[in-house]
Amino acid sequence: MVTTELRNIDNIIDNQRDFFKTGKTKDVTFRIEQLQNLKQAIIEHERSIVEALQADLHKPELESYLTEIGVIKEIDYAIKHLKNWTKPKKAAVSFDFFSYSAQIYPEPLGVVLIIGPWNYPFNLIISPLVGAIAAGNCAIIKPSEIASHTSHIIAEIIAKHFDPAYIAVVEGGVEASQKLLAEKFDHIFFTGGTAVGKIIMAAAAKYLTPVTLELGGKSPCIVDTDINLEHTIRRITWGKFINAGQTCIAPDYLLVNKTIKKDLIDGLKKCVKEFYGDNPANSPDYARIISQKHFDRLVNFLRDGEVIIGGENQPSERYIAPTVIDNVSLEDSVMQEEIFGPILPVIEYTDIAEAIALINSKPKPLALYLFSQNKNLQKRVLQETSSGGVCINDTAMQFGVSSLPFGGVGDSGIGNYHGKASFDTFSHHKSVLQNSFWLDLKWRYAPYEGKLPLIKKLLG
Ligand code: NAD
Repeated sequence: MVTTELRNIDNIIDNQRDFFKTGKTKDVTFRIEQLQNLKQAIIEHERSIVEALQADLHKPELESYLTEIGVIKEIDYAIKHLKNWTKPKKAAVSFDFFSYSAQIYPEPLGVVLIIGPWNYPFNLIISPLVGAIAAGNCAIIKPSEIASHTSHIIAEIIAKHFDPAYIAVVEGGVEASQKLLAEKFDHIFFTGGTAVGKIIMAAAAKYLTPVTLELGGKSPCIVDTDINLEHTIRRITWGKFINAGQTCIAPDYLLVNKTIKKDLIDGLKKCVKEFYGDNPANSPDYARIISQKHFDRLVNFLRDGEVIIGGENQPSERYIAPTVIDNVSLEDSVMQEEIFGPILPVIEYTDIAEAIALINSKPKPLALYLFSQNKNLQKRVLQETSSGGVCINDTAMQFGVSSLPFGGVGDSGIGNYHGKASFDTFSHHKSVLQNSFWLDLKWRYAPYEGKLPLIKKLLG
């Protein structure tokens, strides 16, 4: 186990600043080598990563590959496109700037801080790190102390494969986080809850440090009648109960057209059985709740509405069965805060306008799901709601598409990442304008007398 002493934080930052000043990270070949190094390190430690995730979340091996080690796809994507991303891009100039040329140069920010959550504790640290490396920064990483086994394995891998003057891990909880936040960074990338996001932004404001905040919220899932019911049921069951519902983009609650509600619920019941057997507690494919605190919070939600699927729980194992609840009121606590667990409330609507009004009465969600083949309905929902992202006729898969920027809006976050968006997040885009010497028109120089008509013409 490798831990970095909190008292060394100043040293680590100073060393990274010195390393950054050498200009080494600006070399694109160096960045590609480091991304390859990261990929190799992950492959080499695959087994330990899977074991750590199993110890923290009882995460099934397949889910660990799909949603955590699968971050390798992001590394490959960055390696493939990096040369193109780092090239200065020509910008157009208008006719009155005919003697000029304009370009945009991406440049690294410096030393960045990445703070991660516990639910996908490996991916949500490594994925932003890929962006930080690709853009040519030094990075300090603070994984979540709550997924402690994964935090240790990240610290071990990084210490073994990277110079701490380039990339370093600081392990620990709120104290470590706050000690880091007291320092000046060139960017802070935070993934976690909205309440802590506000603390991060307040700390960053002290130094005018830019932030990316990847936060949570209640992501609605609308189910219309114009669907393939069987596929819809499977995709919702998977997206809701993967990682025992502890997914920032899990469908938080269903908004179902009244005429299809009974069929949908019957189907969900069958599908939960098909996925996890008669007793999901015995399924090797079903995760556990991360901590007693979160278990207690979730069990309290079971008092709301009427449990129609699941509801069983075992405190000693931190197990909560895949659960669906009906007849919830909007005032119930389960509809007031992000659920972040395997509990799915079902709310019916008669007219889509009711579903849209409900969504718009709440803070803007990270994800919005719509199951419908009806193009007009798709258009209406896209136009009349706002969310970090939208996925139509599926759940959670938008996270895996590197060409789509991933992030929230309003309460669900600020900024985005994945693929080129990660590179942009960790870069400053420097505008460079160049004039030439072959001509020097005098229309902007004093004395101004007689020049106003020309200026007016140019502006017109
Ligand atoms: P959290 O906000 O409690 O913790 C996240 C990180 O912040 C941890 O590393 C923790 O040590 C640190 N932290 C906690 N309290 C702090 C404080 N007072 N000051 C400074 N640092 C502090 O979040 P969590 O419980 O780990 O994760 C769950 C939340 O994260 C959910 O709301 C979920 O929706 C959200 N989330 C968002 C995304 C996304 O991509 N947008 C992904 C995963 C999780």
